[in-house]
Amino acid sequence: MPALTNRKRVLVTGGAGFLGSHLCERLLAAGNDVLCVDNFFTGSRDNVLHLLDNPHFELMRHDVTFPLYVEVDEVYNLACPASPIHYQHDPVQTTKTSVHGAINMLGLAKRVGARIMQASTSEVYGDPAVHPQPEEYWGNVNTIGPRACYDEGKRCAETLFFDYHRQHRLDIKVIRIFNTYGPRMHPNDGRVVSNFIIQALKGEPITIYGDGQQTRSFCYVDDLIEGFLRFMDTPAGVTGPINLGNPGEFTMLELAEKVVRLTRSASTIEHKPLPQDDPKQRRPDIAKARALLDWEPAVPLDEGLERTIAYFRGRFFG
Ligand code: NAD
Ligand code: UDP
Ligand code: UDP
Repeated sequence: MPALTNRKRVLVTGGAGFLGSHLCERLLAAGNDVLCVDNFFTGSRDNVLHLLDNPHFELMRHDVTFPLYVEVDEVYNLACPASPIHYQHDPVQTTKTSVHGAINMLGLAKRVGARIMQASTSEVYGDPAVHPQPEEYWGNVNTIGPRACYDEGKRCAETLFFDYHRQHRLDIKVIRIFNTYGPRMHPNDGRVVSNFIIQALKGEPITIYGDGQQTRSFCYVDDLIEGFLRFMDTPAGVTGPINLGNPGEFTMLELAEKVVRLTRSASTIEHKPLPQDDPKQRRPDIAKARALLDWEPAVPLDEGLERTIAYFRGRFFG
């Protein structure tokens, strides 16, 4: 059923999570009607509390592994726990969320003729044998390891997106997100940025897994969401997959030093064992996003960390 107004009706699954709540905010600010669907596994009402009074915002508790019948013009499919602690808590449910969730949201998009975007991940590259990772790289994932429920679930979701595109001519967009951080990150999901900030603010030792020489690239959330919106607005047929992330690459030791300096903490560094299948390095090749979207991250790591530290201070140490 077409909308009776000019406002676009946008469905955001996982909308009460970290990235989803920022996306809902931006979509509302741009004049859309937003339907936020979430089962509150890792997300919470608190993340969207400030949006609940907005008449153009609707929050629905629903699990995307079950069918959903709503009328919308666009779908952003973000529902899925994103950190190892959470996605390994119930690995079968994680795979179901990615795979059944994708099938249901694709079925919905097919029925209503909606454009649909998938929040995929750099984890589809696994422990990469190619560095930095261009979209053409097929990845190096252990199918039976503890991270596979997430990595393989996301890989299968990409397959489903491209098969619905080829078989049913769906208007799809697939984004591969690299590590993103910022306000509303989960405080105890074990991610490196939130762990280090909380440890530094508490004055506890900073836990570095392994020797700390492994690298990651950290994108500030506002930069990422800008990339989402630009990509969603590309013409039909521009499907991706496209990498979005910040190509600045840092070792975990460098990150720890930054966090200690910016929080003016007295925390020391403590080494702990490296988790199984922990990728040694990860950095996006964002040449495609630069060319196609005229996009690149604008917030440097120090500034993004300062904003994130301010959020954690205010929320948990106020
Ligand atoms: P998050 O855990 O904060 O958000 C995920 C949201 O999905 C939560 O609100 C959670 O309650 C919800 N959810 C989980 N299972 C669900 C289900 N079955 N039905 C309905 N809702 C469900 O994580 P995030 O960092 O905001 O990640 C959002 C998306 O982006 C995820 O798909 C994640 O895989 C992807 N991603 C994130 C990053 C990152 O660095 N943050 C990197 C790569 C990919
Ligand atoms: N689906 C949904 N909402 C809709 C339309 C479909 O959740 O508005 C689900 C439906 O339950 C189905 C899945 O999406 O299991 C895939 O739909 P599709 O039409 O591709 O397949 P089929 O219904 O033929 O299995
Ligand atoms: N890490 C760390 N200390 C922590 C949490 C994580 O040294 O307290 C390391 C982890 O082993 C990995 C990197 O930081 O090498 C990024 O971990 P995260 O779980 O944030 O992201 P991912 O591995 O999914 O990229």
